[in-house]
Amino acid sequence: MDFNSAIDLTKAILQPVEFPEPLPVKVFIKRLDLVHPYVSGNKWFKQKYNLMFAREEGYDTLLTFGGAYSNHVHATAAAGKEFGFNTIGMIRGEEHLPLNPTLQFATEQGMQLHYVNRSDYRKKHLPEFAEWIYSKFGKVYIVPEGGTNQLAIKGAAEIPALIETDFDYITSACGTAGTISGVICGLNGAKQALGFAVLRGAAFLNKNAEQNIFEFTGKTFSNWSINLDYHFGGYAKINRELILFIRQIEEINEIILDPVYTGKMLYGVYDLARKGFFCEGKTIVALHTGGQQGIAGMKAHMNEVLSTHI
Ligand SMILES: *Cc1c(COP(=O)(O)O)cnc(C)c1O
Repeated sequence: MDFNSAIDLTKAILQPVEFPEPLPVKVFIKRLDLVHPYVSGNKWFKQKYNLMFAREEGYDTLLTFGGAYSNHVHATAAAGKEFGFNTIGMIRGEEHLPLNPTLQFATEQGMQLHYVNRSDYRKKHLPEFAEWIYSKFGKVYIVPEGGTNQLAIKGAAEIPALIETDFDYITSACGTAGTISGVICGLNGAKQALGFAVLRGAAFLNKNAEQNIFEFTGKTFSNWSINLDYHFGGYAKINRELILFIRQIEEINEIILDPVYTGKMLYGVYDLARKGFFCEGKTIVALHTGGQQGIAGMKAHMNEVLSTHI
């Protein structure tokens, strides 16, 4: 399957967002989650040039890493199926059967799963680990956890040009900060980019972004920052306020946010806006980076949080 014809960028509409209380700014959401049913959101942009490179270099297998609920693992499995690569997922932790919906989907796409204990998983970036992978699996194209590398930055740099309105701010949830790094490169110094870290204690993301940006452009920019205040306790941690916000946004706008990434990011935009962080009348474009696949795995926990913390 040809890379560009599989993806429909015209589906990534720009949608106005209404909030539970009126804000002094205009907010739109760019629906990158709609570009493909499975290779969705920012993951398509991060994978595109990696897939092209892997094909050009004659690789027939992609190997990557992630947790058991990883959007990146899910998207890699789907991309492999769609574009004719075998896929191997190195999953952190032990096997739990029955498989959760993310890993069930991945195996249905043909992904081979291998479980890596937590201490080995921490060594996955070391050259010895790569050697072990090559000795075990042969010639495979290794994509890092979260999918961030320079080819991913190149893909994400194409996002700002897709936005069909004038805007002042562009915002994105940050896991590795690969997406926001690419967006900042694409802005090339114009407008403002604002990332929202979804992990606790994520000051290192600023360094990572700076390095990604410099490697890609040879420049540094000052029109961006990564906010560290809306992680809600840490990666995949949630509370009642976040869940209620996500439900309100769905009710008012029919936009589905996930509680791990896009829910936290849009809550951050909302909260900063009502506290006067943005000048009155500014236009903010929030990226819907996908992640809906992960909701199934969080449903029970979300209901539990809603019923116990009253
Ligand atoms: C992976 C992911 C992110 C984080 O992207 P990074 O490039 O790692 O910062 C944001 N939102 C969603 C929905 C994701 O799946």
